[in-house]
Amino acid sequence: MLNEVPTQERAQRPRIGSVAYERDPGKRIQIDGYPLNQRDEVRRFYISEGPFQPFMDNYPYGEGGNQHRRFQYKWFKIFPWLEFSPTTGHAYCFPCFLFSTKPHGKCGSDTFTLKGFQNWKKVNDGKNCAFLTHMGQTINSAHNFAISCVADLSNKSGHIENVIVKRNEKAVVDARLRLKTSIDAIRWLTFQACSLRGHDESPESINQGNFLEMIKILGCYSKEVKEVLENAPGNAKYTSPPVQKEILNTFARKVQKTIREEIGNSKFCILVDESRDSSKKEQMAIVVRFVDKEGFIRERFLDIVHVKDIAALTLKNSICCVLSDNNLSLQDVRGQGYDGASNMRGEWNGLKALILKECPYAYYVHCMAHQLQLALIAASREVFEVHQFLQDAIFSINVVSVSAKRNDELIDEQAADIARQVDLGELESGRGLNQIGTLQRPTDTRWSSHYKSICSLARMFGATLSVLRRLAIDRSLSVYARGDAKGSLNKLLSFNFIFVLHLMKEIMAITDTLCQALQKESLDILNALDLISSTKELIQKLRDNGWEPLLQKVNSFCQKYEVELPDMNGMYVDLSKSRKRHDNTTVEHHYRFDIFTVAIDQQLQELNSRFSEQSMELLTLAAGLDPRNSKSFDIGEICLLVERFYPADFSNQDRDQLESMKLIKTDLRNRMGDGYFRDYMIVYIEKEIAKKFTSDEIIDLYDLLGSRRAKLKLTGK
Ligand SMILES: [Zn+2]
Repeated sequence: MLNEVPTQERAQRPRIGSVAYERDPGKRIQIDGYPLNQRDEVRRFYISEGPFQPFMDNYPYGEGGNQHRRFQYKWFKIFPWLEFSPTTGHAYCFPCFLFSTKPHGKCGSDTFTLKGFQNWKKVNDGKNCAFLTHMGQTINSAHNFAISCVADLSNKSGHIENVIVKRNEKAVVDARLRLKTSIDAIRWLTFQACSLRGHDESPESINQGNFLEMIKILGCYSKEVKEVLENAPGNAKYTSPPVQKEILNTFARKVQKTIREEIGNSKFCILVDESRDSSKKEQMAIVVRFVDKEGFIRERFLDIVHVKDIAALTLKNSICCVLSDNNLSLQDVRGQGYDGASNMRGEWNGLKALILKECPYAYYVHCMAHQLQLALIAASREVFEVHQFLQDAIFSINVVSVSAKRNDELIDEQAADIARQVDLGELESGRGLNQIGTLQRPTDTRWSSHYKSICSLARMFGATLSVLRRLAIDRSLSVYARGDAKGSLNKLLSFNFIFVLHLMKEIMAITDTLCQALQKESLDILNALDLISSTKELIQKLRDNGWEPLLQKVNSFCQKYEVELPDMNGMYVDLSKSRKRHDNTTVEHHYRFDIFTVAIDQQLQELNSRFSEQSMELLTLAAGLDPRNSKSFDIGEICLLVERFYPADFSNQDRDQLESMKLIKTDLRNRMGDGYFRDYMIVYIEKEIAKKFTSDEIIDLYDLLGSRRAKLKLTGK
C-alpha cells in the first residue's frame, strides 16, 4: 500500500507530524528515493534522531513458520544499530539504511534496509546469529563500512568549501559565540511571549523587530560580542529569519525528545484539542499525560499540527503520525480525552471509536469538569429555538451594553448593571471557534457565568425592557441604534423568548450544581458519581413532570410583562414550511415535544455520552485506589485510573502559562509561519524543559543537523 505513490513523489511531500521525515523504518523512504542534493540533509536528520527502537509489551509474532518467536526488546541493548517497525513487524539496520547507497561499492544485502528482517529463530543461534552475520567479521564489511560513514558525516562540515576555514580555530570560536547570542535572544523572547520578527527589518529601520534589537543590545554590553557580530562573514551571521526558525525548531525538537524520555516505557493518556487559526486552518493540539520515572504526574504539550480537514479518520491518522514521530505507540494509550464543548462533538465521537478499535484499553473518560457547561449549552443549541434564544439574548445585551458605554450619564447605572450581570459573551467564544483555544480556560469566575447570566436576565428583565424602551425613543441616538433597541424589544417581548428563557433556567439549575462540584479538586470519585446519577435523575424528572409547572411560570411571567399568550390549542405555523404543507400540530405540541422534550433529551444524551456506564464503572473501580484510602497501590495504576478522572484538564501550574496563550495567539500568530508557530508554542509552553538546555547543547544539535546555512563546522574537530 505504501508503494502506491512513487517514492520520489512521496519524498517531496510535506508531512503532517512532528518531524520532517518519517521515522518508522517500515514506512520511511529509502535514501536513494531522495534527490542527490538532499540526501545528506536527510541522513543528518536521522542521525540526530537516532535509531527507532520502540518498546512494546508484546512484539508481534513472526509470520509463516515463525509463529512462536518474537522480537526481544533486550536486543536493542546488545545491537545498538537495530531498529524495529511496529507497522511491518520487521527489524532493520540503522547505519545500513543511511548508507546502503554507498559512495563507492560495498553494497550489502537489502534484508536489513528495504525488506526488513523477521527470521527470529536465527537470532541468538551462537555464531550463526543473523545479527552477527549481518555485522560481518571484518572492519570492511558492508555494515561496518556504513557505521564509519555515519561517524564521518557526524564529524564533517555540511560544506566542502569550509574545510579550509575549519582549521581556523578563532573563526570557530567566534561563530559559536554568535550562534550563542542568537540562541539566548530567541530563548528569552520566546519565554516572554514576544514575537521575534519586526515589520521592517531593514538596516535603516528604527525598529528592526525584537530579535534584531535584542542582538544589538547584547552587543552593547560586551565588546567581545560586538566585535564578532560586526566581523561576521556574510554566510555565518546566524541572525537571518531562516536561522531563527531553525534554532527554534532545534529547541522544539529537543523539548519533544525530553518529553519522550520522561515518558519512558509508561503508558499514557492523550488529550486532544482542536483549534482554528485566523486563516481558518484547522489545527490540532496534542497533550500527553503520564507518570514520569519519579512517580510524578506530568502533562506535556507534545505537538500542534495542521490537519487538512476535521474528519475523524484524518484526526486519527495525524495523532498516529505525531505519536510515531516521537516513538510512542497508540497501543500504549490508556486514556483519551477531547474538548467536548466545541462544534466538533460528532467528529470527536468518531475519533474516539477509531482509536478504541486499535487500542481497546484507550478508555474514554470524558474530562468531567472541562467545559461541561459549555458542552451542555452546545448540546441544547441543537434545538433551533434555543439557539435562536441565545442569539437574541446576546444581541439585546449588546445593545444595552453599547449604550451603557456610550451614554452612561444619560442612561444611568441601570444599563451598566445589566451589561455587567448578564454577560453572555463567553457563550460565543466557547463554541470551539478560533481557539488555541479551548486550551485557554475561561477563568474561574467566568466558568460558572452562564447559569448566572440566564438568571440575571430573568431577574432584570423589567430593567432591561425599560432601558431598551428609553433607547428606542432617544433622539440623540442614530436611527440604527434606535432600530436595534426596537428590534431587541420585539425579540424579548415574545412568548417564544420567555418560554426558552425559563426552560434553560430550569435545566441549568440542575446541571449547574454538577458543573460547580466537578470543578472542586477536593471532590472524591464516589461523591462525584453520586452527583452524576442524581443529576441524570433530576433531569429525567424534569422531563416527566416539569411541563405543567414550567408553563405556569412562563404564563405568569408573560402576564407580568404584558406579553400576549398564544392559543395553545391553535395550529402551530412553521415558517420554514409553506402554509399548505404544515403539519397538523398544535402550538402546545410544538412547545412541549419539539422544544421542551428535545432540549432535555439533548442534555441527557450529552451527560450519558460523557459519563457512560463503562466509564462510571471504571471510575468506581478506580475509587478503590484512591490514595487517601490505601497505602498499597501502584503509582502507575493511580495515573491510569484515578487521575484520569480528575479532569483531562491542565494542572494549575500549566494554567497560568495557558492563560497567556491568548496573548501569543492574537498578537503573534499572524506574523508567524506555520512551522514557526508550532515550534514557538512547544518551547513556550514547555519552558520548564527548555530552560534546562545549555546553549552549547543547542549549538551542537543545530550543527549536527547541518543546516544549509551554517557554513562552519562548529565543533572545531
Ligand atoms: Zn547494518
